[in-house]
Amino acid sequence: MIELSELTKRYGGKTAVEGLTFAVRPGVVTGFLGPNGAGKSTTMRMILGLDRPTSGDVRIDGKRYDQLPEPLTYIGALLEARSVHPGRTAYHHLLCLAQSNGVPERRIGEVLDLVGLSGVARKRPKGFSLGMGQRLGIASALLGDPKILMFDEPVNGLDPEGIHWIRNLMKQLASDGRTVFVSSHLMSEMALTADHLVVIGQGRLLADTSMARFIEEN
Ligand code: ADP
Ligand code: ADP
Repeated sequence: MIELSELTKRYGGKTAVEGLTFAVRPGVVTGFLGPNGAGKSTTMRMILGLDRPTSGDVRIDGKRYDQLPEPLTYIGALLEARSVHPGRTAYHHLLCLAQSNGVPERRIGEVLDLVGLSGVARKRPKGFSLGMGQRLGIASALLGDPKILMFDEPVNGLDPEGIHWIRNLMKQLASDGRTVFVSSHLMSEMALTADHLVVIGQGRLLADTSMARFIEEN
């Protein structure tokens, strides 16, 4: 479970996120909906300890990110701006992540299978299509077999087959009992993916409700 409490982020005089309080629970896909600039990425970066809150607090299974002994085994994430070392093969990229996070090497083959990249494990990601790059990002997120997964705008720019695949993966992860938190600026996408919806606008919480109820009321 992810718990946010009065989470606030200001950049200089500008408020990106303001007093966000909500929880993301296991066993369902929770959508994080808001227009571009609403504060979704900033919130996700704070959950991952990549951005320091101006005030407020984030807990992952009751702990702060920096208190998690091997973070990748608690929470995996696919963020919008990802970087992979240009000189490393897909396998080497995952191996470096595994080694620095206490993940056994045999897990690499499992996640490559899971995302359908086994055939290109020895290739360098710089030659990958957008969809393949996305799959490698997802393999990285799944590497530690975490109970919590976060995806920032995962279907942006993908073809219909890639979109369908990611949607099904997120649903399967949730039905395994994992916590799945996924952002999008498109209600149409959320309606096809999420069971629960958290809506933000200009950094503030606008709704935190089941998808069924949100559709009924809007
Ligand atoms: P979203 O992911 O919903 O599109 P973001 O979290 O990226 O929104 O951005 C929220 C707001 O915070 C925007 O106004 C954005 O310009 C601002 N912002 C995000 N990151 C920074 C930064 N590093 N410095 C200054 N402003 C930022
Ligand atoms: P499958 O679901 O393909 O039948 P298993 O359930 O036997 O595979 O799992 C094999 C390995 O892959 C295990 O380590 C399991 O935790 C992991 N695994 C299976 N499905 C997922 C998933 N959707 N996300 C992350 N890890 C998964």
